[in-house]
Amino acid sequence: MLRVAVRNCFYHGVMPDKVLLAEPRGFCAGVEMAIKALTWMVRVFEPPVYCYHQIVHNQWVVKAFEQVGVVFVDDIDQVPEGTPVMLSAHGSSPEVVKGAHERAGVVIDAVCPLVTKVHHEVKRMAEQDFDIIYVGHDGHDEASGTVAVAPQAISLVQPEIGLAGFDPADSTKVALLAQTTLGVHEWQAVLEEAGQRYPDLWTARKSDLCYATTNRQEAVQQLAGRADLLLVVGSENSSNTQALVRVAEEAGTTAYRIDDADDIRAEWLSGARIVGLTAGASAPDHLVQEVIDRIDPSDGFELFSVTDEEEYFPLPRQLRGFLTALQGAVEGGFTARKPGRPGLLENDRDWTATEALQLVRP
Ligand code: SF4
Repeated sequence: MLRVAVRNCFYHGVMPDKVLLAEPRGFCAGVEMAIKALTWMVRVFEPPVYCYHQIVHNQWVVKAFEQVGVVFVDDIDQVPEGTPVMLSAHGSSPEVVKGAHERAGVVIDAVCPLVTKVHHEVKRMAEQDFDIIYVGHDGHDEASGTVAVAPQAISLVQPEIGLAGFDPADSTKVALLAQTTLGVHEWQAVLEEAGQRYPDLWTARKSDLCYATTNRQEAVQQLAGRADLLLVVGSENSSNTQALVRVAEEAGTTAYRIDDADDIRAEWLSGARIVGLTAGASAPDHLVQEVIDRIDPSDGFELFSVTDEEEYFPLPRQLRGFLTALQGAVEGGFTARKPGRPGLLENDRDWTATEALQLVRP
């Protein structure tokens, strides 16, 4: 009798042959900046350090910071007077920023510059009396903060619903803006509908979808046809993570979002020879590595790269000013220098959020 040796995987079935690992995946420049900024806050200040909204939408990152004394709040009035507070990467409404400055001792705004760019567009178009269509997800932190910049001029349009309820005062003065983390297809569908309805439509020359969103989706779109299954590491409230799942499904590949390796179900892997793997922009890469280890593909993993990313966002200006002042006062201590290395402020590019998280990991 012919006997075939078959390795069984962790899930007591035949293991997949290979993991195709999407590149780029995981941390974007905005998340890198925000995580490093909050790491500075917890190293410089005595706990608790407050943070308005989750610093990034990832449950592992949030828990790691909670364990070293960060308190996340959804109402700026919950920040005790005089304490340090950070505002999250998703951007905050003008009222929240004002409230933070009135209450807190130190305010560091870790908003991603690409979200700030959309806030500026909203302000500019509202000042010119445009009716603004903002394509986004109701209740998402970024959408809430952006709509609050000019609530009288802006209509939040859910991509799955489209423009049915939108009725501008002047159809020649309509602007179309978007949440940075939408699915590319979702954005294009609304863009097409709006372009047909409003021939004079104003929209940003380059869409508001950020480079990280489009690059990660491009990788998934290309990878999807080569994989039997796609796993997306990221948290439920991460908009760009959810968009990656939808992109794979639109391409005809079954996809599941997982927070970490423990979420993988045996039945998903049954019959899957090639497993595609990616991660949302706020998911730490060690969680991706743990997924590969858990799947334990017989032929290992292979990188599936569609482009390189070089983007870098410096630490928030207020934090740099604060740390520079502190550095002068405590030269030689940790606060502005990492032992054995030159000043971190000068070398922030060489220091990654992954390294930063090592410092806050309990
Ligand atoms: Fe900025 Fe895009 Fe990252 Fe959001 S996903 S933090 S907009 S780079």
